[in-house]
Amino acid sequence: MSETPGLSRRQLLGIAAGGIAAASTPGCDDAPDPARYTQADIDQLARQQRDEAANKGKGPYGEQRYAGYRGLASLPWFDLNPAGDLICIDDSLPGIVDVHAHLGMSILFKPPLDLQASTPRVRHLLDCDGTTPPGKLDLDIYINGNFSEEALGKNERVLMTQGLWGNDVVRSHTIPNLIAEMDAMRVQHSLVLPIKLGLPFGDDLTEQWRTAIATANASERITSGCSVHPQDPDRVEQLKHYAATGARVVKLHPTVQRFYPDDPSMMPLYEEAQRLGMVIFFHGGRAGIEPESSQRYAVPRHYAKVLRDFPRLQIILGHAGARDSAGMLELALAHQNAWLGIHGQGVRSLETIIRRTGGERLLFGTDWPWYHLGATLAKVLICTDSPQRQAIRRTILRDNAVSLLPSLAD
Ligand SMILES: [Zn+2]
Repeated sequence: MSETPGLSRRQLLGIAAGGIAAASTPGCDDAPDPARYTQADIDQLARQQRDEAANKGKGPYGEQRYAGYRGLASLPWFDLNPAGDLICIDDSLPGIVDVHAHLGMSILFKPPLDLQASTPRVRHLLDCDGTTPPGKLDLDIYINGNFSEEALGKNERVLMTQGLWGNDVVRSHTIPNLIAEMDAMRVQHSLVLPIKLGLPFGDDLTEQWRTAIATANASERITSGCSVHPQDPDRVEQLKHYAATGARVVKLHPTVQRFYPDDPSMMPLYEEAQRLGMVIFFHGGRAGIEPESSQRYAVPRHYAKVLRDFPRLQIILGHAGARDSAGMLELALAHQNAWLGIHGQGVRSLETIIRRTGGERLLFGTDWPWYHLGATLAKVLICTDSPQRQAIRRTILRDNAVSLLPSLAD
């Protein structure tokens, strides 16, 4: 492993970690407000995890365990091609629109990453097809529950080295690899969501991905959103610039960027986004695997004010609130400008969401390259298999996204 001259690996890690922490911790000296995150909030997350473990496999569709992503070929809508890759064989599906994907990230010291390269295999962060025998994939739990402790530790190293010397995992998160998987899963268009991390330098994913998509001539298949950092004094100006150069969606991530969605300092940004007709894509809810110190930012009630005070601002709540989907679903039902990205929810939970919303304002998302596109697709197909749900299937897989973001229809 080569190292940057004059800097040890330990120093590099220190800069990376320090840079992220220093740049993204607002008012480090302020004691956190206890009303913002209560014992009841902590208990609620623990209860969700207990209930999920106790009830998995007991929903209307029964056990949902598969031998890795390729194991989804046992479902009627999928098969394996001669190369052994998972393919979707249902040609009755509409051109699917995925509103939640990402590309490889080369940040901070910008290790070499060729987003134009094809590699023999996509190494998803949940890489259940990377081992023999394949890792078990349970679609009836919140999807990150499929990571082992060991795999989570490995991912931490993968994410950290994206700012240092890079790694083979991220080098497979490229445009041709995404398009190949989209073709195999009948996904017509993907929205990729960059994130501004608040690093001291090398924090330009929006620009990198836009350039890479243009270079690949892939704008008919992939569109990039943009991101600003809540603590950046220029955030409103940056938003205007991105909108003027074509961005329709801005990604904000309360747990990674460490801010409360209803913080008073955020209001001018929402005001401007509403004026510009931009869509806000929030990471929604607690995933359960983020640092405990950042979980406080993502509990559903902190999203209520922006939904209420900016009724013309369309807001996507990513992951349908993740492990806080019960609270997030109530918010979405109460606000006409709330859209639920369904990525991550298990089959049993997705069934509840579909039943309560009738499919209205639900958006298909996969969180590629964390997971194979087929994982979320399989869950939607399982929950919409009945003849009465064919219209809802189409709505979730395509029509809702196109009504919110017409440019993704191409
Ligand atoms: Zn994501």
